[in-house]
Amino acid sequence: MTLAQSAGPSVPPLIDETIGANLDRTIAAHGGREALVVDHQGIRQTYAEFGEAVDLLARALLARGLQQGDRLGIWAPNCAEWVHLQYATAKVGVILVNINPAYRTSELEYALNQSGCRILVAAERFLTSDYVAMVAAVAPQVPSLEETIFLGTASWDTLLAGASTVGVAELMARADELEPGDAINIQYTSGTTGFPKGATLSHRNIINNGFMTGEVCGYTEEDRVCIPVPFYHCFGMVLGNLACTTHGAAIVVPGPSFDAEAVLRSVADERCTSLYGVPTMFIAELEHPLCAELDLTSLRTGIMAGAPCPVEVMKRVMSEMHMDEVTIAYGMTELSPVSTQTRRDDSIDRRVETVGTAHPHVEVRIADVETGATLERGATGEICGRGYSVMLGYWNDPDRTAEAIDADGWMHTGDLGTMDAEGFVRITGRIKDMIIRGGENIYPREIEEFLYTHPDVVDAQVIGVPDEKYGEEVMAWVQLRPEATTTSEDLRDFCRGRIAHFKIPRYVRIVDEYPMTITGKVQKFKMREIAAELLRDD
Ligand code: AMP
Repeated sequence: MTLAQSAGPSVPPLIDETIGANLDRTIAAHGGREALVVDHQGIRQTYAEFGEAVDLLARALLARGLQQGDRLGIWAPNCAEWVHLQYATAKVGVILVNINPAYRTSELEYALNQSGCRILVAAERFLTSDYVAMVAAVAPQVPSLEETIFLGTASWDTLLAGASTVGVAELMARADELEPGDAINIQYTSGTTGFPKGATLSHRNIINNGFMTGEVCGYTEEDRVCIPVPFYHCFGMVLGNLACTTHGAAIVVPGPSFDAEAVLRSVADERCTSLYGVPTMFIAELEHPLCAELDLTSLRTGIMAGAPCPVEVMKRVMSEMHMDEVTIAYGMTELSPVSTQTRRDDSIDRRVETVGTAHPHVEVRIADVETGATLERGATGEICGRGYSVMLGYWNDPDRTAEAIDADGWMHTGDLGTMDAEGFVRITGRIKDMIIRGGENIYPREIEEFLYTHPDVVDAQVIGVPDEKYGEEVMAWVQLRPEATTTSEDLRDFCRGRIAHFKIPRYVRIVDEYPMTITGKVQKFKMREIAAELLRDD
C-alpha cells in the first residue's frame, strides 16, 4: 500500500532573501531589459527604470512615516502603480493589503478595519465603481485610516514629492532591518469557513512561489508574460509579477481588467511568450474572431488555474493559441498559492486531465475527511499542503489559523481530490461551501450574512448552480417575514453598491421552506438538485 503523500523536488534551492533584495539583484543583472509594459497607460519601463520608480515610491512611503509592519491598502484595477507599490511596500517592510477592485462599501470597511490600514491608495473610479464616493462613505468608520491617496491626482503627486526629503541611505537602512520571514502581504479570502480572513504571507512565501512557478514554466530573461488576471490576487502579483522579476522577464499588462480583445492584441503586439488566465478567460479568447486572425505564434507557455480546467479548452489552447507548453496550476491563497503544477514534459493526458504533481519544496497529501489520516493512492480525500508556502496565518485570528493549519503544519484546503501512483493530483470536488464563478471564489455564508441584514429577511441560503458561461452562478433561497412584500428584484437592488457585483445572486427564490434533514439541517445538495431542474425547465 502506498500512501497518497508526495514531496516535490528539492531543486532549485529556495530563495533566501527579501523581495527588495531580489529585485535589486535582477536590476543589476538585467537593467536594460524590459520589466513592465502597461498598454492602456502607455507605460514601458526597463528594469533600471522600474527600479527607479520603485525606489522613489519606497522613499515616499518612508517620508510618510510608515513603519515596518504597518498596513497599506491598495484598491485599484491593474495598473503600473499597483506593481510599483507592491515592490515599494516590500522594500520598506510595509504590509500591502490587497483589496478587490470589485468590492463595495461593506467589504471595503471590513478589510480596512480588520487589517488596521493606516493608508489606502485607490483609483478614483473604474467602470461602475466610484471609489472616491465609497471611500468617503467608509472612512469615518475606519479609525486606523489616516489618509487615502487617489492615483493620478494631486494627493499621489504630493506623496511622491515627499521622496525628496528621504535619502537613499535611509532606504538602505530600512532594507537592512527586514527578514525574508516577515509578513509582507495580506489577502482576504474566506478560506474554508465563514467570513473573510486575511491570509498573511511573507517575503519567503510569495517570492519562492513566484520563482518556482516561473521555473516550472521555464522562464528566462527572454520571456514576456501577458498578465490579464488581477493583481489583487496571487495569480497576478505572485505567479505574474514575482515569477517575472525573479527571472528578469517582462510583465505585460493588457488592460485594467480582463478584455479578450485587449489580451489577444497585447500578445501579438508585444510578442508575449506566456499567457495566464482562469478557464473562462481562455474560453473568451478562443471564441474571439481575432484569435484566428492575429499572430500568436510567439506564445510558448502559460498557466491556467483557479477553477477546474476543461480538457477540451486545454487542448484548444495548445493547438490554436500555440501554447504547447501550457501548464495547469492548483493552489489557494493560504499556500502562496501554488501547490501542484503540471510540468512541460508530462504526457499530454496528464497535462490536460490532472493538476500535476507537488511543486518544488512542497509536500502534498490526501487526507481522510473524518480522521485526517493519510489515505492510499487513488482514494478520494481532502488535499493538504505543507512546506515553505504555508501562510504565516490569518491576520489577528489565531483560532481560524489553528482550524486551517493542523499541528503537523498541513494546510487543509477544503478541496477534494485523489493522487495516483506517480503523484499526479486530480481535483474531484470540494468539502468547503464555496462557489467558483468564472475565476472568482464566492463564499455562500458571506452572502447569507449580508442578506440577513435586510429587515424583511428571516433566513437565507445561498448555493451555486450550473452556468454555461461562468461554470457556476449564485442562487439565493430566501424566507421573508410573513407580511413582507419584498420581491426578488428588491433583494438584488439591496445588494447593489454594498457587495461586489459577482456576489449578487443572479437568481433569488422567495421560499416558505428549505429541504431539511430530520435533525433540522438545511440540505444544500437537495437545493442544488431542485435548482438545476428548475433552471433546465426555464
Ligand atoms: P484562491 O484562494 O482564491 O486562490 O482559491 C483557491 C481555490 O480555487 C482552491 O481551494 C480550489 O477550490 C480552486 N482552484 C484553484 N486552482 C484550481 C484548479 N486548477 N482546478 C480546480 N480548482 C482550483
